[in-house]
Amino acid sequence: MITGRCLCGAAQYRSPGPALFSCVCHCRDCQRASGTGGVPVLGVDKTSFASSGPIRQSITQGGSGQPAIRNFCTQCGSLLFGTPQSAPGFVTIYAGSLDDPTLFEPREALFVGQRPPWARLAMQLVEHAAHPDSG
Ligand SMILES: [Zn+2]
Ligand SMILES: [Zn+2]
Repeated sequence: MITGRCLCGAAQYRSPGPALFSCVCHCRDCQRASGTGGVPVLGVDKTSFASSGPIRQSITQGGSGQPAIRNFCTQCGSLLFGTPQSAPGFVTIYAGSLDDPTLFEPREALFVGQRPPWARLAMQLVEHAAHPDSG
């Protein structure tokens, strides 16, 4: 079971897993939304994903042209997971919110063309200039 929560603990989520993909997204939107150099993301099946607590959505135009939806706790503001309309079958869990962050084993880095030099992970990842589906 993959479980996680926000900083204040009011919002939680769970998924039976498994992680279907694991990557770090370095697009500018993820940088601005998180205040970091990239967002570590673990994709799980949406049908078996469950969340509870005071969760709200921030909706912006994503790089795919479809709305990017980021779900956060209204009490503490922690980003928890994404529900991208470009990939409606998936929930993208932000790995820092996991109860056990070591469950996250990143394999790919997306949008490395937008990654600042200080945000490169020490581990070896398959790098994509943008999204792997868009080349
Ligand atoms: Zn919270
Ligand atoms: Zn991104």
